[in-house]
Amino acid sequence: MTTQTPDNPLDTPAQFVRGAGPQRGELLKKLDIHTVRDLLWHVPRDVLDLTDVRQPDELVEKLEQTVRGEVVDVDAKQVSGGRTITAALLDCGGDYVRGVWFNQPWMRKRLMMGSKVLFTGKPKRHQGRWEFGHPQVQWLDDDDSGEGVGLLPRYGLTEGLRMHELRRMTQNAAEDFAEFIPDALPQSFRQKLKLPALNMAVNGLHLPSSLDEYERARHRILFDDLFEFQLALALRRRAWKREDDAPVMQTTAKIDARIRRLFPFRFTDGQDAAIRDVVADLQSGTAMHRLLQADVGAGKTVVAVYTMLVAVACGYQAVLMAPTELLALQHAETIETILENSRVKRVLLTGSLSAAQRRDTLAAIASGEAELVVGTQAVIQKDVKFAKLGVAVIDEQHKFGVVQRARISAGDDNPHVLVMTATPIPRSLCLTQFGDLDLSLMTDLPPGRQRVVTSRITGEGAKQKAWDFVKNQLASGRQAYIVCPLVKGDESNEDKPRGADVIYERVVKALPDFRVGLVHGQMDRKERAVVMDDFRDGELNVLVSTTVIEVGVDVPNATLMIVLDAERFGLSQLHQLRGRISRGSYQGYCFLFSESSAPDAAQRLHALESTADGFRIAEVDFEIRGPGDVLGTRQHGEMPLRVANLTRDIKILDEARREAFAVVDSGEFDTPEFAPLKREVLERFGRLMDLPQSG
Ligand code: ADP
Ligand code: MG
Repeated sequence: MTTQTPDNPLDTPAQFVRGAGPQRGELLKKLDIHTVRDLLWHVPRDVLDLTDVRQPDELVEKLEQTVRGEVVDVDAKQVSGGRTITAALLDCGGDYVRGVWFNQPWMRKRLMMGSKVLFTGKPKRHQGRWEFGHPQVQWLDDDDSGEGVGLLPRYGLTEGLRMHELRRMTQNAAEDFAEFIPDALPQSFRQKLKLPALNMAVNGLHLPSSLDEYERARHRILFDDLFEFQLALALRRRAWKREDDAPVMQTTAKIDARIRRLFPFRFTDGQDAAIRDVVADLQSGTAMHRLLQADVGAGKTVVAVYTMLVAVACGYQAVLMAPTELLALQHAETIETILENSRVKRVLLTGSLSAAQRRDTLAAIASGEAELVVGTQAVIQKDVKFAKLGVAVIDEQHKFGVVQRARISAGDDNPHVLVMTATPIPRSLCLTQFGDLDLSLMTDLPPGRQRVVTSRITGEGAKQKAWDFVKNQLASGRQAYIVCPLVKGDESNEDKPRGADVIYERVVKALPDFRVGLVHGQMDRKERAVVMDDFRDGELNVLVSTTVIEVGVDVPNATLMIVLDAERFGLSQLHQLRGRISRGSYQGYCFLFSESSAPDAAQRLHALESTADGFRIAEVDFEIRGPGDVLGTRQHGEMPLRVANLTRDIKILDEARREAFAVVDSGEFDTPEFAPLKREVLERFGRLMDLPQSG
C-alpha cells in the first residue's frame, strides 16, 4: 500500500506515527486526534515525577519528599467538634507510612484499598512511623507502576488505549516530527517573554527532562492558544474603534435632569459611574461596545433606560432585547411605569403578536415613529428594519458567547451596543467571552437592601421547621416561590426529584389556606403570563415553578424562596433565584432543600449560605463546574480554545491578554515580523469572529 505524503509533515495521519498503526489510529480519533499535529498538541493532564521516590527509611523530617506504595488500610472517624480524621496506611514494599486528612471525609472513598499512589509532602515521625499530613496524592495507573524512573507525562485516554501506548506514540511523534514545526512567534518577542521555541516546547511537553522544562513547555503551548484568541479579540475591537460612523449623541444637563426626574430614587454611585462611561461612548463618534457587569438587583435596568432615553432625546431609536418573552414583558412594564407621563413612543415586539399587530409594529419601527422598542432577541434579530437605530441594549445574554454575539442587523446604522449579564461572571470568562468589550462594573447595591437569610435544609426535622416558618410568613401576608428542577419528574423512581406538577398537587393539599399557582416552561405563553400577573398582583400566595422565574422577575412582596433538590442547580443560578427576594422592604429567606451527600453539593450550598457576594459565588461556581456550565451551555465550540483551561490557567490568560492588546494597539502586530502569526490568527478566527481580513 502506498501512502500519500501530505505537503506538511504535521498533517500526516496519526496512524503513521511509529508505534501507532491503523487500530490505534482509530482509537486516537476518539480523542479527536487525527494528525501528527493533533497528537503533538495533546497536552498531558499532569506529569508523574518518579525521579526522586524515596523508601520510608530514606525519609528525613521537614523536607518535601515523595513515597510510592499501595493503600492497605483506610478509615475515617469523627472526633470532638464534629470533625473527621481520615487516615490511610501505605505499604511501600514492606515498610509503612501513614497519610492523614482533617475534615476531608471524601478522601476515604478516593483512597481505595489496593490502589497504588504517590504521597508528596513533608513527613513527621508519629507513633514510630512516618506520617504525611494532607499529602498531595497522585493515583498511579496500572501501567505506571511498572516503569520505575523519570518524568512520565500522563494523558487523557479513551477505552482500549493504554497510558504507556499513548505515551510511546507522543514521544515518537515528538522525536520524528518536532523539527518540522514552524514557529510563528517572532524570536525577539519570544525572548522578551522568555518563551521556549515551539519545537522545543513540543519536545518538552512529551519528553521532559525536568519539571521546570515541562512547565515552560506547557506554558508556551497554552500561551499560544490564549494569545491567538486574545489577538482576535483585540483585532475585532480595533476594527470597531476605527469605524467612526457611529451616531454622535451630545447630552446636555437639561436632558440629564429630565431623564433623572423620571425615577423615584437617586441613582447609586455605581449607576452614576456606569452612566458616565456610557455617555462618553455615545459622544465619541465610534460605536459603544460595552459590557455592564453587576450583581443581581444592582439596578442595571436604570442604566439601560437612561442610555436609551439619551438616544431618543438625540433623535435616534433605541432597542432593548431580552432573552425571554417573560423578561421582555417585564421590561416593557417597567418602562411603561417610568415613562408614564412621557411622550416617548414605545412598542413591544414579541413572538405572540398577531400577524396584523406585527405588521403595524414593524412599520412603526421602519418609519421611525416607534422610538423605543422592547422585545426578545430572537424576534429582533430576525427581520426588523429600523429607520434610525442609535442604541441597542442586550439584556442577560451571557448564554451567547463571543462568537455567537452577532451584530445587530441595522442596515447602514452602526448603533451603540450595551450588553448586560444576568449574574456576575468570573473574571477569566469575562476576559474571553466578553474580551472585546469595554467593561463597566457596578459593585454597589441600591440602599436598604436586606441580606437574604439562606440555609440549607436537610432531614425531616429541619424540613418541618422550615415549612412551619413558611406558613407563618404567608399568614402575615408575604408570598413564596417554590422552585423545582424539573417540570415532570420520573415517578417510577423514588430517588429522582419530583416534578413541578407533582409538587404543585402536594403544595395545594399541604397549604389549604393559601392560593397556589404553577408556572413552567412547557406552559402556553399566555397561560404563564396570567399566572405571573396573579402572583405579582398578590392574587396568589405561592408560586410553584421551574427556573422560568430565574431571570429578572420582580415581585417586592415575595420574600420566601424555597428551592427543592437544590444540589441540582448551578450556584449562579441559585444566587439569581435568591436575588428575586431581596428587593422589597421585608427580610427575605431562602431555603435550599437538599438531601444529597455528595461532597461538592455540600461545598456549593455552603458557599451560598456564607456569602451574598455574587462575584465571589461566580468564582466558586466556576472552579467547581467549569466554563460550559457557568455559561449555561456545554455546546462544543462555545469556547474556541484548543488546550487552555480557564479555571487553571488564569495567569497565562492574563499574560496573553496583556501582550495581545499591547502588540495590536501599538501597531507592532502589523509589522512583517508578525505576518506569519497574523495569518494563523485570521485563519483560525477570521470567519468565526467576523474579523477584517486586512487585519
Ligand atoms: P438588575 O441589575 O438585577 O437587573 P434591576 O434593574 O431589576 O436589577 O433593579 C432591581 C430593583 O432595584 C428594581 O426594583 C429597581 O426599581 C430598584 N432600584 C434600581 N436602582 C435603584 C436606586 N438607585 N435606588 C433604589 N432602588 C433602585
Ligand atoms: Mg435585570
